[in-house]
Amino acid sequence: PAMQRTVEMRAALEADLRRALPRGQLQLHYQIQVDGEHRPLGAEALVRWNHPQRGMISPMQFIPIAEESSLILDIGNWVLDTACRQLALWGKQEQTRYMGLAVNVSAQQFRKRDFVETVTAIVREHGIDPARLKLELTESVVLSDVADVVAKMHALKAFGIKLSLDDFGTGYSSLSYLKQLPLDQIKIDQSFVRDIATDPSDAVMVQTIIDLAKNFRLEVVAEGVETKVQLDFLRKSGCMSYQGYLFGKPVP
Ligand code: C2E
Ligand code: MG
Ligand code: MG
Repeated sequence: PAMQRTVEMRAALEADLRRALPRGQLQLHYQIQVDGEHRPLGAEALVRWNHPQRGMISPMQFIPIAEESSLILDIGNWVLDTACRQLALWGKQEQTRYMGLAVNVSAQQFRKRDFVETVTAIVREHGIDPARLKLELTESVVLSDVADVVAKMHALKAFGIKLSLDDFGTGYSSLSYLKQLPLDQIKIDQSFVRDIATDPSDAVMVQTIIDLAKNFRLEVVAEGVETKVQLDFLRKSGCMSYQGYLFGKPVP
């Protein structure tokens, strides 16, 4: 009976998700990213689903469902379009003109043959500076066809868009990928940050990722920073940008 309920719940959620976009139930929230002096550098866009009966649903619940079908493509394009519209608005105000915005891209989205054209068309349509847009890729993106991924990344970079590797260290990271990929930034996964002050191996892991990033001339940002202790440790390890509840939760 429990399995049956899970299956039914999932099927219902998928059916609802198909209607979420046309009914305007998706929303972007923004979480600030700061430098060592707490100055805002920009934000990460995080999608939310405001379900009419269930309330706010986390992307951890519905993105995996969307990824099993082509739904993720529609959602991904909507996220990109909405994020670029927000960037255009920020570009018009003195206080926010310099802010960048990071957008999560799923593997299926990135694999589309016309992904580069889609992104550049959206950037042009909103008339934004491409350098303000950062795409967050995960290791699962890179895993597929490395030659194709590298070619697309070079094309995006040539257009001026920034590239970041999300959740670094949790997937199938390989140093040979890191060497080939034209990245601007890596994000230290929050699972390493969480126990940084109490678990010596997490501390070593974080220090190693930061050193690695520096040697590859990449920016490094730590995610999931919740406490001053974590921040101090990261700062001592040479990290220079941060994201987490200590600085701000994702907000509409
Ligand atoms: P992510 O890209 O690694 O995003 C970071 C997640 O950590 C976010 O969860 C954020 O709210 C949460 N977080 C931030 N600071 C803290 C902190 O200090 N402590 C803790 N415990 N958590 C923190 P969220 O918004 O639930 O998103 C979860 C994941 O869903 C994202 O992980 C990303 O993989 C995916 N996702 C979100 N938006 C999109 C999207 O537009 N497209 C795609 N493809 N995936 C998305
Ligand atoms: Mg992310
Ligand atoms: Mg992450």
